[in-house]
Amino acid sequence: MVNQSHFLQQATELDQEDPLSSFRNQFHIPDNGKGENLIYFCGNSLGLQPKSVRSFIEQELSDWEHLGVEGHTHAKNPWMPYHEMLTGHMAEVVGAKPEEVVVMNSLTVNLHLMMVSFYRPDSTRNKILIEKGAFPSDRYAVWSQIKFHGLNPEECLIEIAPKEGSTYVTQSEVLNEIRLHGQELALVMLGNVNYYNGQVFDMKSIVEVGHSVGSIVGFDLAHGAGNLICNLHDSGADFAVWCSYKYLNSGPGGMSGCFVHERHSRSFDLPRFAGWWGHDKASRFRMGPDFLPIPGAEGWQLSNPPILAMAALRASLEIFHEAGMNRLREKSERMTSFLLQYLEDMEGSMIQVITPKSLAERGCQLSIRVHGGDRTLFNKIRQLGVIADWREPDVIRIAPVPLYNTFKELYDFGTLLGNEIEKSNGSQVVH
Ligand SMILES: *Cc1c(COP(=O)(O)O)cnc(C)c1O
Repeated sequence: MVNQSHFLQQATELDQEDPLSSFRNQFHIPDNGKGENLIYFCGNSLGLQPKSVRSFIEQELSDWEHLGVEGHTHAKNPWMPYHEMLTGHMAEVVGAKPEEVVVMNSLTVNLHLMMVSFYRPDSTRNKILIEKGAFPSDRYAVWSQIKFHGLNPEECLIEIAPKEGSTYVTQSEVLNEIRLHGQELALVMLGNVNYYNGQVFDMKSIVEVGHSVGSIVGFDLAHGAGNLICNLHDSGADFAVWCSYKYLNSGPGGMSGCFVHERHSRSFDLPRFAGWWGHDKASRFRMGPDFLPIPGAEGWQLSNPPILAMAALRASLEIFHEAGMNRLREKSERMTSFLLQYLEDMEGSMIQVITPKSLAERGCQLSIRVHGGDRTLFNKIRQLGVIADWREPDVIRIAPVPLYNTFKELYDFGTLLGNEIEKSNGSQVVH
């Protein structure tokens, strides 16, 4: 049985001591139409809107209104180099050098662009290793890249699955699988956080083993960027891609980040799909016929980018810069630890947390399996004001984020979940 008042007191104290508590005021919190805030736990899917987004976008609308095409050079924030204003803070968020990072396109597009350059199969080394149950878009992308090279995806795609009875693939199983396929591997392409169960992989050791067998190693940080300390540069990964509308709060369909390790920054002989925005800046507007790539990640850009989308992201990245990833991660660890403790006694009867429980193996997200795949519990907590998400066949994902969620919200969520479980199976979990 859970001692409710103890947890309430703890939540209150944790909120009072929280050095980041004032950041919540910088966000619009969704409400139920009656002026009451909802408990928003979907920052892993679509982050909330920073209040500053509006003025960032209005600035660009105003410059477009008054300057027209001359905004490219004369806007308050000139559009021509606009993307450069995002690079520093974005590099900070993922732990990379500025030259290694660019904001461009959307996530799946960037994944394809990276594979064009970094998946270069030959007759013996042509396989891609991913997780079974990877995010569908990633699987479609690797599958279609294999076909694009005239190869058979049934043979060239290796999908590593959890062992019988387990809910996730362990880090050492991943490393063993890489060693096992060694000479055939052209690319190891993993997420650093699994979108379904919330498990976190240690990128650095995956890169070490991947490189030791001669493979390229890339990551999808869709669920890692803005959530974890990624140390991308130090991980040694060859490339990485991520979106900015999840933890990074850039709004629906917001832009993607792309990382190319500095060891490739001048690999101009790599095949790449080229466009004019990746061309050497000094000579771009001479409009010459031959492509001369910018060194570093910027050289992979194709088009002049959507300024309004970038303005929204810029607003959000300023907040990340101010809060700092280290402090965000510390609070996130406190949040999930608190909630895991509160949920502990409810586990077993009806729910099970399938996210690994060690700190190193989890980020903001906890995935809660509902036995029997009954959606009623999820529907009920939605009615009671919790925005979470349901993933077939049987998982409720919740992702309290340190920028705008509170410990009291975790307490409220745990309490109403406990009450619902109690009602449905008659046992007393919360008192
Ligand atoms: C969210 C997410 C995507 C979405 O791709 P878009 O191109 O941004 O629509 C892809 N892969 C992973 C792992 C994701 O979490």
